[in-house]
Amino acid sequence: MTPVGVPDRSGGHVDAEALARSWGQAVRGTSHVALSRSELDVLLRGLSERLLRALRTPELDRADVMAAGRELVGAHFTEIASLDRTLEHLGTHLQPHAEPGRLIAVLSALAVGFAGALQERTRHELERITVSAFDARASVERERWNSEARFAAVFAESPVGIGVGGIDGVIIDVNKALCRMFGFTAEEFAGRSFYDFVHPDDDPAVWEQMQQMVAGQIEYLRFDKSYFRADGGRISSQLVISLIRDPGGEPRYVVAMVEDVSDRRALEDRLRHQAEHDPLTGLPNRAVFFERLDAALADPAAAVGVCFLDLDGFKAVNDTLGHSVGDELLRVLARRLDAELGPDGHLVARMGGDEFVVLVHDGADRDVLTGVAERALETVRRPVRAGGRDLTVTASVGLVERGDGGASAAELMTAADTTLYWAKNDGRNRRAFFDRERHLADIERFAVAARLPDALERGEFVVEYQPLVRLEDSRMTGVEALVRWRRPGGLVGPDAFVPLAEESGLIVPLGRWVLEQACRQAVRWQDEHRADGVGPMFVSVNVSARQVREPGFVAVVEKILSATGWPARSLQLELTETDVMATTGEPLHVLRELAALGVRIAIDDFGTGYSNLAYLRDLPVHVLKLAGPFVSGTGGAEPDDVAVAVLAHVVRLAHTLGLSVTAEHVETARQVEQLRTLGCDLGQGWHFSPATDPARISEMLRAGSAGRVG
Ligand code: C2E
Ligand code: MG
Ligand code: MG
Repeated sequence: MTPVGVPDRSGGHVDAEALARSWGQAVRGTSHVALSRSELDVLLRGLSERLLRALRTPELDRADVMAAGRELVGAHFTEIASLDRTLEHLGTHLQPHAEPGRLIAVLSALAVGFAGALQERTRHELERITVSAFDARASVERERWNSEARFAAVFAESPVGIGVGGIDGVIIDVNKALCRMFGFTAEEFAGRSFYDFVHPDDDPAVWEQMQQMVAGQIEYLRFDKSYFRADGGRISSQLVISLIRDPGGEPRYVVAMVEDVSDRRALEDRLRHQAEHDPLTGLPNRAVFFERLDAALADPAAAVGVCFLDLDGFKAVNDTLGHSVGDELLRVLARRLDAELGPDGHLVARMGGDEFVVLVHDGADRDVLTGVAERALETVRRPVRAGGRDLTVTASVGLVERGDGGASAAELMTAADTTLYWAKNDGRNRRAFFDRERHLADIERFAVAARLPDALERGEFVVEYQPLVRLEDSRMTGVEALVRWRRPGGLVGPDAFVPLAEESGLIVPLGRWVLEQACRQAVRWQDEHRADGVGPMFVSVNVSARQVREPGFVAVVEKILSATGWPARSLQLELTETDVMATTGEPLHVLRELAALGVRIAIDDFGTGYSNLAYLRDLPVHVLKLAGPFVSGTGGAEPDDVAVAVLAHVVRLAHTLGLSVTAEHVETARQVEQLRTLGCDLGQGWHFSPATDPARISEMLRAGSAGRVG
């Protein structure tokens, strides 16, 4: 037989046979089981297979798992200890291999089946004893001694507590089991009345029925009843009371059979608690949260809101300080959140991991939700003593209101999740409100991101080129390659998709493609215009930090250069200022290797970040491309003196550092004049030409045979 197993999260399997074996050991000796060792093996093996299947199937077959619980009782596992060990054993062994919600559902169903069968069995036992009592009465003439002896034996040895009283309720006899249960001796029982054992929880109807019984109108009663033990503790029992008549048919005695079900009740309570609470923090779990959310939403008029909270950087706490410190932190924060918000009637639950959720009911409007979020954030920010140190953590919160965020619980939670992500993305330690427009824009972005790989595959990208012009003599000395996406409505600019491609990693193959296109095109121009006497051109290609970090980037560049035959010294790679400044360690090494090949490195959009120019000294950088805003201030009718002075300073400093300076976004002749005066080396912008297709660049190269533009 092939082993039935549950796929483990690590790819392994728990197999039924091993599970059955260890389960057998766990329950050994807990009950007086009538099965032989091998019969027991077969039984547990079968049950294990069914439980494993139940953990795995998409739709849980609860009835089958309950039946498995009943089968345990059928095999005489009739002690609560058997169930207790079973649950504990299965719980610990299956936990690493099962989804927690499913595991709890399976174990609960097993326990419910077990408890139900046990109850049924006890009931039968009681009824059997009652019948023997009746028998004793009925056969009084025929076989009086024999049946009385039988009754006496049953009475004395029954594990069920039995008390016999007169019609007046005075107790005549009790068995050992009843004494044990109540903590009274037989002498202490004798002479007391059934009616002394009233409990505040008793249903008054029960005592009325007792009256009817002693009046001979009812033969048999069965109900649940609580008692006080001698030590004041509580007994939860199932009680069966039968009327015994004398040979003349007159009511004579009442026999009460009391079964202590306190353990079973306690177990049921514990299981219920386990099923509804998170074991680590003791907070209600996600199942309870969803139940309560559904219930709140069931009232169409109710204002319902959700505050979804996730700790910032919790993983780092776990990784650096250990899981026990992480657990302690979660416990403390759970307690605090509950103490802060619980008293106002908000439900605080743990969703899992470092996620908590607050259900805000009753008048949850924007202000109320904001208040709840602020209090939650404040609560989290207070230092936590864990693992012998004070930790300070923050959280991010996503807020949604019913209606705005959706109608169903699932929609609301998806919206809360999205909003939480915004709060994280906007810098953490803050709250964000769900905003439908932003959500739609996100969806659009995701849709675009999802289309990009296909677009690359189908050749929908094109490269345009923008002249780079030497200001001294207005000659085009190079071009910058700029990628576009050809869509049915026209060309889409890179700002709409390059950031998405960076996020998804597609920028790596896309960037490689652009680089190859640009080098190939450059070789083509060179071949075409050799006769035109055009001087050596260079191509400048934008690269993202993500590409530079990708292992093997230098090899990719080298390969493209050798495949296309374009010389390294005629290639310039542009990285944005922020990317370069974030470049430390390995990537910096990559830039050095590229520089060593002869490739020039340009810092793009310089002036948009906050870098210290002097720091550039230590970087393998050759060119500074001044961002648009630097340049735009210098070209107005009334020159902005400060802007000009700043620009002059930057150009001078760059030259001191041995860097060549290119001005971007050159749009006017005045700017050209100004930049030329300041000694800026190259210019790029609409004044010369926008980015255009290769044929147009060819024309420019041909026009002025010297490649003069502008
Ligand atoms: P960038 O590298 O700074 O490119 C210059 C941008 O300025 C281009 O926008 C260009 O069309 C625009 N521009 C040129 N002249 C003027 C002007 O006179 N005035 C103004 N206002 N703008 C001018 P584009 O093509 O939309 O590119 C935007 C950015 O996308 C580029 O900025 C670059 O960072 C990125 N990008 C473009 N192609 C690639 C690529 O192949 N790979 C990567 N990683 N990024 C790319
Ligand atoms: Mg650029
Ligand atoms: Mg730029």
